[in-house]
Amino acid sequence: MSYGYGNRRGRREDRGFGHGNEERWDRGAGSSSGGYPGNSGWESREERGRGGGSRGRHPGHLKGREIGLWYAKRGGIKRKEDDRKSATVVQMDESREEHITKLLNTVQKEPYGRGRDAHPSTSESWRSGTDTGGHSYFDGEEPPAEVLKKPSTAEVKRTVKDKDLEYLFQDILRDSSLDQEMKRDLLKKRDNPKYTEMLKFREKLPSYKMKEELVQLVRANQVLVVSGETGCGKTTQVTQFILDDYIVRDMGSVCRVVCTQPRRISAISVAERVSAERAETVGEGNSCGYQIRLQSRLPRKQGSVLYCTTGIILQWLRSDTHLSSISHLVLDEIHERTLQSDVLITIVKDLIRLRDDLKVILMSATLNAEKFSKYFDNCPMVHIPGFTYPVKEYLLEEVVEMLRYHPQTQNRRPRWKRRFMQGQMSRPEKEQKEEEYKESWPCYARTLRDRYSDSTVDVLEAMDDDDKIDLALIVELIRHIVLHEDEGAILVFLPGWDNISGLNDLLMAQQMFKSENFVIIPLHSLMPTVSQTQVFKRPPPGVRKIVIATNIAETSITIDDVVYVIDGGKIKETHFDTQNNISTMTAEWGEPGQCQAEERAGRQGFAGEVLPLVQ
Ligand code: ADP
Ligand code: MG
Repeated sequence: MSYGYGNRRGRREDRGFGHGNEERWDRGAGSSSGGYPGNSGWESREERGRGGGSRGRHPGHLKGREIGLWYAKRGGIKRKEDDRKSATVVQMDESREEHITKLLNTVQKEPYGRGRDAHPSTSESWRSGTDTGGHSYFDGEEPPAEVLKKPSTAEVKRTVKDKDLEYLFQDILRDSSLDQEMKRDLLKKRDNPKYTEMLKFREKLPSYKMKEELVQLVRANQVLVVSGETGCGKTTQVTQFILDDYIVRDMGSVCRVVCTQPRRISAISVAERVSAERAETVGEGNSCGYQIRLQSRLPRKQGSVLYCTTGIILQWLRSDTHLSSISHLVLDEIHERTLQSDVLITIVKDLIRLRDDLKVILMSATLNAEKFSKYFDNCPMVHIPGFTYPVKEYLLEEVVEMLRYHPQTQNRRPRWKRRFMQGQMSRPEKEQKEEEYKESWPCYARTLRDRYSDSTVDVLEAMDDDDKIDLALIVELIRHIVLHEDEGAILVFLPGWDNISGLNDLLMAQQMFKSENFVIIPLHSLMPTVSQTQVFKRPPPGVRKIVIATNIAETSITIDDVVYVIDGGKIKETHFDTQNNISTMTAEWGEPGQCQAEERAGRQGFAGEVLPLVQ
C-alpha cells in the first residue's frame, strides 16, 4: 500500500529539518530563518564562536579570492531574501482559513465517499482510476487528519479534476430490470404533453425522417460519418436516436452515448435542448447531461447521453485509454479541424482496434465528410439533406445605397493603395496585388456606377476596407432594420472580441438601444457561460434581440428566432506559422459565396435576410 501524499511530505520534511547542516550555504539560504551569512552558514558558526563580531564584513581568516567569493555569495543570498520579502503574500484570518479548508475537504472526499456509499461497484473504478494517476487517498486508507486540514494546491487541483472523470469511471453491467424500467418511462413520455409538443417539432427535422436508416447504420458499422446542413438535427437528434433505439430493444442499461462539442457553450446549450425535448431537466440523474471542465450536470449512469467538450475526452483518455464505460462516441463538428479534435480523431482510430464494441460516429456540417471516411478506411457515410431557408442577400453596395450612408471620417488615400497596406504579404506580392487592383478598380467602379448612385460608389471607394470593419455602418443598418422592417432577432457576425465590444458600446451609446425594447447579447468565449445561455431565450413580443457573435454561431449553435443576419465578412482563422512554430489567430476576409457565408445564412431559424458586408 502506498503512503498518503501528506505522509510522504511529512517524512521528507522530517528528514530535511532533522539533519539540518549548518555547514551548507544553501541550507542557510533555503530555511526561512536565516537568509544571509550573518545568521547561518559557516560564518555564523565562526562568529558565534567568537561571540558575535563584525556583522557584514568577511571573516578574518579568508584570503584573496575567497574574500571575493564570500561577498558574491552574500550578495546573492541577500537578493533572494529581498525578493522573498517583496513577494505578494496573502494573509487570511483563522476562521476564513478553516472555512476554506472545510470546503476543500468536502470536495476532496466526495467522489470516494459517494461512490462507496451509493454505488458499491463504483468505488472500485475510482480506485483504479486514481491509482494510475498516483493519487493515494482513494486506496482505502483514510489520510491522516493533519493532511486533510491543509491540502496542497496540487492535491486540490487533482481532486477537482477527478470530478471531470466521474461519468467515465463507472462499472456498467447489463441490468434487465433497469432495461424494462427505461422502456416503460420512454413509452410513458408519449402521454406527456411537453414531450409530444417537442416531438412534433422534432418530426419535422430532416434527420428525423432518416431515423431508422441512421440507427441501422450505427448498428451495422463500427464507424459512421454523418454529414448534413446546419440545423438539420445532427447534434440534438442522432444521440437520442441511438439511446432510444437501445431502450426500445431492452438494452438501455448498456447504452452510454458521449458527444463532443468544440465549445463549452454548445455542450451546455445542446444538453439543455435535448433535455427539454425529452421533457426532463438537464442532468440530475436524468437521461441527458453535460460535462465541461470543472462544471457538470451529469445524467444517470446507465442509458444516457452526455455532451462534453473535446478537451474532456482527451482528459478522460489519460486516465482510461480504452474509455471502457462508453458505448458510443459521437464526434461532432469535426469539420472545424481544431488541434484537439484532430488529435482525438487519431487516438480514436487506434482505439477502435482495441475496442471493437465501441461505436464511433463522426458528424460534420459541410461536405468534407469524404476525407474523414477515407481516414477511417472508407467507412460508410450518410448525408442528411437539409432544408434551406429562402434567403435574400444584400451586398455592401446595396446596403450603402439603401441607407444613403456616408462615413464620418473619410480616408483620402486611393482605395487600391490602402487595400494591401497592412496585410501579411511580402513587398513584391503586395505591389503586384496593388497593381492588379489599380487596374481593375476603375472597371469595377464603372459597372457599379451603372447600378448605383455616384455617392454610393464614392463611399465605397473611400471606405477603409483593408483591415477594419465599419461598425458605424452596422449601427446604421441595425437602426434601419429596427425602424423599417418586421419583427425578428438580428444576428451580427464579427471576427473578434474587440469588434464585438466596440459595436456593443456604439449601440449602447444611442438612447434608442438603451430602452427595454432591446436585448443586446455579445456572444464570445470571454463572456461567462451563464449570460451566454440567454441567447436562446425568445424575448417577449415587442422586444428586439440583437446577438453580436463570432463564427461560434455559424455551426455549433442555432438561434431559433433570428430573421436578419449581418455578416461583417471577416472571420478569425487559426493559421499555423511554420517558421515560428506557433498557431496564430488572424482575421481574414471571407470570400463571398464561400461555405462560411452559406453557413451564416443557414443560421436563421426562419426565412429572412442576410446582409454580407463583403464585396
Ligand atoms: P445540426 O447539429 O444539424 O446543426 P441541431 O441538432 O443543433 O442541428 O439543431 C436542430 C434544430 O433544433 C435546429 O434547426 C433548431 O431549430 C433546433 N434547436 C437546436 N438547438 C436549439 C435550442 N437551444 N433552442 C431551440 N431550438 C433549438
Ligand atoms: Mg450541430
